[in-house]
Amino acid sequence: MRKRVIAGNWKMYKLLAQAVDTALELKPLVANANHCEVIVAPVFTALKTVSDRLEGSNIKVAAQNCAAQNDFGAHTGEIAPIMLKDVGCSYVIIGHSERRQFYGETDASVNQKTKAALAAGLAAIVCVGEMLAEREAGNAEAVVQAQLKSGLEGLTVADMERIIIAYEPVWAIGTGKTASPEQAQDMHVAVRKTVASMHGRDIADRVRILYGGSVKPDNIASIMAQPDVDGALVGGASLEAESFARIVNFDR
Ligand code: PEP
Repeated sequence: MRKRVIAGNWKMYKLLAQAVDTALELKPLVANANHCEVIVAPVFTALKTVSDRLEGSNIKVAAQNCAAQNDFGAHTGEIAPIMLKDVGCSYVIIGHSERRQFYGETDASVNQKTKAALAAGLAAIVCVGEMLAEREAGNAEAVVQAQLKSGLEGLTVADMERIIIAYEPVWAIGTGKTASPEQAQDMHVAVRKTVASMHGRDIADRVRILYGGSVKPDNIASIMAQPDVDGALVGGASLEAESFARIVNFDR
């Protein structure tokens, strides 16, 4: 049985006090959510304070990116996965489409960062997803398969236990357009098939696959009703505690 995961990506929003306020507001609203893991991903500067204030709660903290190295060194502006672990993170989001589109992230860097994150003891939420033109050309599955094969290349089955895959069609992120539940289900089956071809059926059946792309309180239930959808990575609708809590508590 795969434990569901609902993760909120706060992107580059919220000053420190605002991030803390949202986290503290969220805490009681999701305190009874035993049906899923709840994760929030604030900006780097809020990670330590938010994770301190959430200590003892059922909300875990993720970073939104990390360096590909854990060794201290001359990497100005980078933050090593071990530093994220040090300030209370349990997860890191890697290869989000905004990083791929605007900050030069590639499948190769996703692979290096994922390995560095795992080596630091973090679990990684690895994002994949096709652009609209790729879907319209009928290449969506091939694109996602290639991202997975390169992004997860060289990982062991034990590594895969600490990987969560987020399928986020780029055309659905922040656009208000959501993949239909059937489109999400079909791609999640394809993702599982790719993982099976790399690591065997057992791990493919156990890996959690999240859907991301304009998830809101009013569409989460139909997405979560799909058998291969194990949760959601939520951007805009995670910024307000009340809206994110309604997503987490979608079946209450
Ligand atoms: C995201 O940031 O991963 C995301 C899916 O954003 P949104 O929910 O706003 O589309």
